Amino acid sequence: MIPSGILSELTSKLSNCIVVSQVSQSAFMEVGKYLGITRIEIGFEIDPTKFTKDGETKNTLIYRDGTAYSENPPYTRSYKTDEDGTVTISFYLSEDNSPEHKEEESDLQILADVIFIACGRWRLVEKLQKSYLTDALTGLPNTGGYLVNSEKLFRQGKLPEYTSFYFNLAHFGLVNEKFGNRETNEILARYAHKLSSYLVDGECLGHLGGDNFVALIFKDRVTTFLNLLAGIDTFGIIGSENIPVRISAVAGIFDIDKNIATSGSVIGDASVALNEARYVRKCHYVLADKEMNERALRTKQLIARFSDGIKNEEFLVYYQPKVRAEDGTLIGAEALSRWKLGNDILMPGDFIPIFEQNGMVRTLDFYVLEHTCMAIREWIGKGIDPVRVSVNFSRKHLGDDQLVERIISTVDKYKIDHRYIEIEVTETVNKAEASMLSDFINGLRKSGIAVSIDDFGTGYSSLTMLRSFPVDVVKLDREFITSLDERDKKVVENVIHMVDDLDMQTIAEGVETAEQLGYLTSIGCHLIQGFLFDRPIPGDRFEERLKRRKYELT
Ligand code: C2E
Ligand code: MG
Ligand code: MG
Repeated sequence: MIPSGILSELTSKLSNCIVVSQVSQSAFMEVGKYLGITRIEIGFEIDPTKFTKDGETKNTLIYRDGTAYSENPPYTRSYKTDEDGTVTISFYLSEDNSPEHKEEESDLQILADVIFIACGRWRLVEKLQKSYLTDALTGLPNTGGYLVNSEKLFRQGKLPEYTSFYFNLAHFGLVNEKFGNRETNEILARYAHKLSSYLVDGECLGHLGGDNFVALIFKDRVTTFLNLLAGIDTFGIIGSENIPVRISAVAGIFDIDKNIATSGSVIGDASVALNEARYVRKCHYVLADKEMNERALRTKQLIARFSDGIKNEEFLVYYQPKVRAEDGTLIGAEALSRWKLGNDILMPGDFIPIFEQNGMVRTLDFYVLEHTCMAIREWIGKGIDPVRVSVNFSRKHLGDDQLVERIISTVDKYKIDHRYIEIEVTETVNKAEASMLSDFINGLRKSGIAVSIDDFGTGYSSLTMLRSFPVDVVKLDREFITSLDERDKKVVENVIHMVDDLDMQTIAEGVETAEQLGYLTSIGCHLIQGFLFDRPIPGDRFEERLKRRKYELT
């Protein structure tokens, strides 16, 4: 009988190990000596199952004492696993030892049982670790798994042999719309499977979730891989029909060199380039460069600073006067934001696109509305008659079904007559957005808050906007006014007449010269916003304009 001291020492050593690779030889030394064991092997034989897709057949040596072992077949014991596989534990015995006696055999049995119990735990942990690093849908490494692999290549100094890709499937939303969620997942898995079959040994493909993938590709195969990203043919199933689907991707590419500082930039730098490809250059792929990284860093800093900026009231509201051209009367203003960051004043172009992308613009819009209301309240308090001030509201608000109520309650909080507020929205081509936009416009107008279409003429849907959305004001985009060739002129003239016929007003933005003004008034556009009269100015200076009320016409 194995002395209980040896057995309890062994079980405690085994239970301290989380995976089989942690088991040290010394754990078996004593029991090995006692039973004359020179070598212990564990064999797994598991057919493919739902959990172990490729099945598992392997032999693991867990103990060897270095001496010769008998040519005799080992003493083995087999156990069934939960997946209907077999685990076989083999003890190779020294030349002068064979378990002839019942007693020794029962000792070996006990030892095998102890090892089998430990095995169950090791396998479970191993599986958990694997699933933790693997994406269940595609079977590819997930973010964690991909990073573990990148870190390994980094430590081996091999990363510079690769080019890193971060790619996103183009128009995948349409695939989803057509096939539904479940089949779209299948398509995604088929795509991943097909793409990975084109990789060569040493390359790595990862699935970060959604339709985002990453890959490490050998430098001499970049063109080949780009061709694959340009289009992979797969299929989706509707009913019993296989429908061909061609999937192309937009990629950010990071050419790794020996100066790479951390393995994380394999994903980070490529994702910056992908962002540039998707949102800035709108092309199939972009190669990461230094400036891009600096810009991305700046973007990160601005995003990190945003909520403090709002809290500390670093955002300033400037007002750009709107003037009636016939007599120079100040008839309104547009509220435009500026960001006072230290000694700099940032223009909307520096931060609005960033906050549009991540939705933070919604907070800013309400901030501007609230500060506009505060200013109007202050003017009224001083006995100054206000004018209607328009505030830009991003389309990012459209999913908010409390939007109209929130705007009204902000205006009401400062007891501002609704006629002093106008909300500017931009055109949309998106069908889903269009119905929300329509509710938004109607809700505001019902409450007496005016609505204008901003940047009119720059979108793809100007006519649809005019037909479907009864607004108060159409703001002709600056682009129209700055390049007034004969064709533009015809369009502008007719737009103005049409808007007039539909009982809306037109205001021309970006009027800089007397000539432009002369032309616009000659064709019936009398409301003007532009540098010719005033730039956007801080509240105190706008207050002076309010008191003066008129502009000199030359
Ligand atoms: P926008 O709403 O079309 O505002 C008019 C822009 O044209 C302003 O630029 C204004 O300074 C500029 N502008 C006006 N007259 C002239 C002119 O005669 N010549 C030239 N060259 N430019 C003129 P700004 O203030 O830089 O704002 C740019 C855009 O940023 C705005 O275009 C608007 O879309 C956005 N924006 C500004 N503030 C906010 C905000 O608080 N919320 C949202 N959602 N967007 C904002
Ligand atoms: Mg505007
Ligand atoms: Mg505009």
